[in-house]
Amino acid sequence: MALRLYNSLTSKKETFKPIEKNEVKVYTCGPTVYDNTHIGNLRAFIFADILKRVLEYNMYDIKHVMNITDVGHLTSDADKGEDKMTKALKREGKPITLIAMKELGEFYTQKFKEDIFDLDIMPANFITKASEHIEENINLIKILKEKGYTYDTNDGIYFDTSKFKGYGKLGKINLKGLKKGARVDPKEKKNLTDFALWKFSTRGESIGWDSPWGKGFPGWHIECSSMATKYLGQPFDIHTGGIDLMPTHHQNEIAQSEAAYDKPLANYWLHSEFLILNKNKMAKSKGTFITLNDIKEKGFSPLAYRLLTLGTHYRKPLNFSWEALQGAQNTFEHFLNHVRSLGLGIGKINKKYKSKFIKNINDDLDMPLAIATTHELLKSSLKNEDKLATILDFDKVLGLKLEIALFPNEFPKEVVELAKERQDARFYEDWKKADKLREKIRKLGYEVEDIEKSYRLIRK
Ligand code: AMP
Ligand code: ZN
Repeated sequence: MALRLYNSLTSKKETFKPIEKNEVKVYTCGPTVYDNTHIGNLRAFIFADILKRVLEYNMYDIKHVMNITDVGHLTSDADKGEDKMTKALKREGKPITLIAMKELGEFYTQKFKEDIFDLDIMPANFITKASEHIEENINLIKILKEKGYTYDTNDGIYFDTSKFKGYGKLGKINLKGLKKGARVDPKEKKNLTDFALWKFSTRGESIGWDSPWGKGFPGWHIECSSMATKYLGQPFDIHTGGIDLMPTHHQNEIAQSEAAYDKPLANYWLHSEFLILNKNKMAKSKGTFITLNDIKEKGFSPLAYRLLTLGTHYRKPLNFSWEALQGAQNTFEHFLNHVRSLGLGIGKINKKYKSKFIKNINDDLDMPLAIATTHELLKSSLKNEDKLATILDFDKVLGLKLEIALFPNEFPKEVVELAKERQDARFYEDWKKADKLREKIRKLGYEVEDIEKSYRLIRK
């Protein structure tokens, strides 16, 4: 069955057709690293991971770019307020310098990488930092200026949305219904939807980058346009992000890139819905959020959270509760115990269940149904070895590391710890350290065998 995806550009489920035959190019708006990533943000990244795994299951290669916003994100979509990174420096009592800002960004980026590792999220091929692409932003603004899409105000360079015909086409935004809320003097901002491409450093604040128009910061939409095109070309296949990014950030990305290059930015736009806590969207800016660490500290597995998110379709809001997480933890343990009970026989992937699973995942990533099919498989009367082969095949998409259940438990703690440390080193591509740890494991009488993104221990 062909892969069908809901495209926010057309508000329809469409059969997916990549630009190139075998390789799919995907861009995901990554985290703004002024604070810990919360489990709401992580829902958006688990969704992007499922998309990539489903594409791989459909035999496509993937080129994936994710940005890290470590500069330029203002506290509101209406170009209002302070830069979020500057605000965080003040919150943490750090000096207001570009170096301190970079360090702050690196600190939270590192924590984010640990979270995605724990959640078995496949890292992007390129994780690109906004602060390292200032020149690309400036070049894109220059093109827009030359083509007459911009105007200057006393606080920055703005994009004139009235000059871009397709403005609002993503998700069919009702522009007339937008409320006033512009930051600059409305007399200066020509249209409510206009947005900053470059913001001048405010008087007395020396922080910022030099540009032909004065010292300042890139606007926060420009980074995604310039990095996506730099690494993926234009157009590329799929752009993903949380639903809150659609009305403004993604609309503005489209305006900038399409005005500059006169061709579409991306062919498919996929948006994931919110994680809800106490009836509200979980939000960093509100300060009341739950992190993956909180989950771990309460004794839950990060993969139970991953499974929880798979139980609700990505286009539906998901209410978080600890009871629901406990339910997901029980299901996760049930999967592990069941896999463990199947033995180590080498079987065949069952065609009937596989085709049902493909039907589920290829219907706009219907993971709740895919999980139901997994339950059905486990309850079926198939031979143990065939069940095992089939569920491990499904796990390429589910990403629950179910093969861990097959490891005999009697490995010494020291060996298991070394293997885990080595897996971390592999994740961060520290091959020297990984080799050293492999040697240590060998000396203790064990071999570590790499299996795709995981590993297996064997007694020598
Ligand atoms: P940020 O770090 O705020 O730039 O957000 C990173 C990603 O998380 C974006 O794709 C957001 O749309 C998404 N996001 C933010 N809050 C939530 C939430 N409560 N539930 C799901 N996704 C969210
Ligand atoms: Zn973005």
